[in-house]
Amino acid sequence: MNEIAEIINGTLHSGIPVEITEYSIDSRSVVTPEHTLFFALTGNNHNGHDYIPTLYADGVRAFVISEFREEFKLLTEANLIVVENVLAALQQLAAHHRQQVNAEVIGITGSNGKTVVKEWLYQLLSKDFLIYRSPRSYNSQVGVPLSLLGIDARTEIAIIEAGISQKGEMKRLQQMIRPTVGIFTHLGDAHGENFASTQEKLAEKAQLFTSCSWVIGQSGEAMEYIKTQLPATVSCLLWGEDENAQIQVKTLNITGGHREVQITYNGTNFRLDIPFADIASFENCMNVVSTMLLKRYSPDTIYSRVQQLSAIAMRLEIKDGINNCTLVNDYYNSDPSSFQLALNILATQDSSKERVVILSDFMDTGKAGDDLYPSIAETLRQANISLFIGIGKHLCEHRHNFAVNSRFYEDTEHFLRQEDRENFKNQIILIKGARAFQFEYIAGFLQKQSHSTILEVDLDAMVYNLNHFRSLTDAHLAVMVKAFSYGSGSREIASLLQYHRVDYLMVAFADEGIELRAAGITIPIAVMNPEREAFDNMIMFNLEPEIYALDILEDFNQALKKHGIKRFPVHIKLNTGMNRSGFDEQDIPQLLEFFNTERSVYIRSMFSHLAGSDEAKHDEFTLGQIHLFERMTERIQAQFNYKIWRHILNSAGIERFPQYHFDMVRLGIGLHGISAANAQLQAVSSFKTYISSIRNVPEGQSIGYGRKSYTTRPSRIAVIPVGYADGLNRHLSNRIGNVFVKGKRVPIIGNICMDTCMIDITDTDAAIGDEVEIFGKHIPVTELAEQLGTIPYEVLTGISFRVKRVYYKE
Ligand SMILES: *Cc1c(COP(=O)(O)O)cnc(C)c1O
Repeated sequence: MNEIAEIINGTLHSGIPVEITEYSIDSRSVVTPEHTLFFALTGNNHNGHDYIPTLYADGVRAFVISEFREEFKLLTEANLIVVENVLAALQQLAAHHRQQVNAEVIGITGSNGKTVVKEWLYQLLSKDFLIYRSPRSYNSQVGVPLSLLGIDARTEIAIIEAGISQKGEMKRLQQMIRPTVGIFTHLGDAHGENFASTQEKLAEKAQLFTSCSWVIGQSGEAMEYIKTQLPATVSCLLWGEDENAQIQVKTLNITGGHREVQITYNGTNFRLDIPFADIASFENCMNVVSTMLLKRYSPDTIYSRVQQLSAIAMRLEIKDGINNCTLVNDYYNSDPSSFQLALNILATQDSSKERVVILSDFMDTGKAGDDLYPSIAETLRQANISLFIGIGKHLCEHRHNFAVNSRFYEDTEHFLRQEDRENFKNQIILIKGARAFQFEYIAGFLQKQSHSTILEVDLDAMVYNLNHFRSLTDAHLAVMVKAFSYGSGSREIASLLQYHRVDYLMVAFADEGIELRAAGITIPIAVMNPEREAFDNMIMFNLEPEIYALDILEDFNQALKKHGIKRFPVHIKLNTGMNRSGFDEQDIPQLLEFFNTERSVYIRSMFSHLAGSDEAKHDEFTLGQIHLFERMTERIQAQFNYKIWRHILNSAGIERFPQYHFDMVRLGIGLHGISAANAQLQAVSSFKTYISSIRNVPEGQSIGYGRKSYTTRPSRIAVIPVGYADGLNRHLSNRIGNVFVKGKRVPIIGNICMDTCMIDITDTDAAIGDEVEIFGKHIPVTELAEQLGTIPYEVLTGISFRVKRVYYKE
């Protein structure tokens, strides 16, 4: 600890001796507490110092902090290093660690392709070198230092991604990474809102390469500009079709998903058969091939390794399984560090269910040693896994290292033959296998079978939107998860929001809240329509009622007394112009009178709801509501000696009335990608199905019930298994609605049926099995709502329950 304190210029308050092997900034994902050094970072919405007592209770004994709080004096065994800036200290430590290792460091930057290039380099080089690479896309100011700290003494090559979003960031990353070889992957189209021009952005990215002896990239304007920013000590190795490129490359032909290219380098000619046809894969592949050429690999070796490149699955799927199980399918890759990340994700799921891990032998371990499987067994023990199933010869050999409750199979086929579906109930199952093990069969075996019309929920998009709204406010954040979180799912979404530390969840009815508690949600939950029959359950499960009238308040207070509970939080709803529910201004004296005697409730917040916050034409009215709200809340607050929170804004309000955030805001539709201020949010839900059959229909024939549409030419008509019973509104029939197939919009033809409908695919080459989007990333849900003369809320909440929800995450 002394040494670390010295490196980061901190003052050490010593505790018991510790040996540090893990560095953490996130209290939720600590795996080995006794060996963890926790950095208490402070951000806009959270402060790592708040979690120190809990971490201490969990066994963590080493912390880097910037404020020494009185309560820390009680943590007698803790080693506390006090520094001025915790993030800077983390970066300093990482920079120091980087200087101590002898590994060659490859630094990758660019707008797209960083992760693929990193993973492919690993696929191509790990036969010959002990390689370390940054996990997933840990490429930020916080991610890079954590990546660097993972490099160990035996590492021969470390591959580190660097990503930036504004000026000045790359310099700091460069000082830590100090790459010896740089790769510039690809410049995106836009220069991004934080850069004045593309040149400014390039100049920033070029900073990464100042310490390199070689920089690899595609010959062209971007690299020419980058060159001008680099000292003479840096050489460039460029590939491309033009003369400036040292590595000349020409595409010979593209067939069957392969691209054959001809390469000329240093007077030698050779061919490559790239197992991908698309241009992005070609560029990524050329960057890794250039790296191999720099390392003097022979054309033969390059040819055979490139042929074996496999796609990098970037995402992780969370699906409903049989018998109330949840499946987490991770097809990312098969190595210990990605396994660790998958376990972290498992930790964020519904905590009421047992955890099961099904794992195959690792394939991409490169030259990892014999202690690999024992250390995996140890990790599983610490991660509280109740059942482990290992598949593969190596895992079978190491079975004695694993805890009692584990089973082993030589291969996937044995698993499928010997396991029974009834063995899996109410569990969260992580399925993580190397490609060769074909774990998709296991996923299929455990998956709930239902028709394949799905609502795909992009959790990364949701987090992106959440962070966007967060960046707009300093107030506490409540998220409305009523109506199955606007149709997207209750447990999964609430777990995600809890993980991202929102302050409150709000549901419409007590039942919804009880379900969330059963799913392990512990953050505060408010219920907007508390019904008297549910009072006892609400008290038991800590669900805080919205109080919109005096009789409810009296009855709830009675219920609390019966249970002998004091200071139970409630939320007082005020009517300021919505005229739906809530106390009017003239009701305030009665309300205050109620509190003249000792009461069991405690007012946590006072709030109101705006009737037209999304439309400028109502702004005057809205401001009137807000001012009335201020007046009413001041009157109420004056009678209490504790602070009562105030909140009035929904999503549109948060964007349009930044001066009225008060103590909390209530985010709803914005989380789902809909902005009242044209903010660039991401679409979260995609309603998708597939083509189940195709028929050729001559000109002049009617299609479907009631004979409402006719073909006007010889047509190809496809059936898709989605109908009005799934939530596809029947008003979209007969060419009013479109769907998106094979890169094109095509019309719905004929009347929509209960379980199916027909689409006209004459203008496409679509085939049976092709995916069809009803709304999502290509057809915005707002467009569908407009066609139907309604609002996106109704479309989203109208997707029926029989449509399976599938969650994705990178
Ligand atoms: C649904 C709801 C919100 C969220 O509204 P959005 O327009 O979806 O942001 C906020 N407050 C209350 C009281 C609500 O019922």
